[in-house]
Amino acid sequence: MSLSLYKKKRNFKETAEPAGKVKTQKSKLIFVVQRHKASHLHYDFRLELNGVLKSWAIPKGPSLNPEDKRLAMMVEDHPYDYKDFKGVIPEGNYGAGIVEIWDKGTYGALTKDKNADDEKLLKTGLKAGNLKFVLKGKKLKGEFALVKIKNNYGEKDNVWLLIKHRDEFATNEKYDSEKETPVNSPINKSLAGRGK
Ligand code: MN
Repeated sequence: MSLSLYKKKRNFKETAEPAGKVKTQKSKLIFVVQRHKASHLHYDFRLELNGVLKSWAIPKGPSLNPEDKRLAMMVEDHPYDYKDFKGVIPEGNYGAGIVEIWDKGTYGALTKDKNADDEKLLKTGLKAGNLKFVLKGKKLKGEFALVKIKNNYGEKDNVWLLIKHRDEFATNEKYDSEKETPVNSPINKSLAGRGK
């Protein structure tokens, strides 16, 4: 896992985003969902794996309704320290806009085997384009899958779907991640300020 693409896209003299390193110390695996107002408002879903954050941009945001299959475009690995990043990315920089943390917590592979090697299972799932995991966040809880869409055209190789499994945390109600965002969040305040 490499951060070279991440670093190439960014000028760390201008952006406050972490230059970051690959994490080496052991601790519980984490996930974070950042809400990002760039040219378009989207959610960035990140799972720690092998010392970096595997990352997907989700235009509509995650859902707790298993009927929803949320488009998730895999993007470049981000450094582990990105989990804490929130704030403004200045104009003219990659992803310019505002980032806020929408949810975070720990996560693990979905397995019944208590002695299983989580990272090994997750790595295998990632390679197979079928990643099953359990989130322990404030908003996102329980079992989810990220499933890669196979296409035969060789154009886009980064298209996945985020799907909630049916469990005690799932809902049958319509789920809108925007409604789970505080009205006074920095992004919402900035949108209101523009008379949106
Ligand atoms: Mn983003």
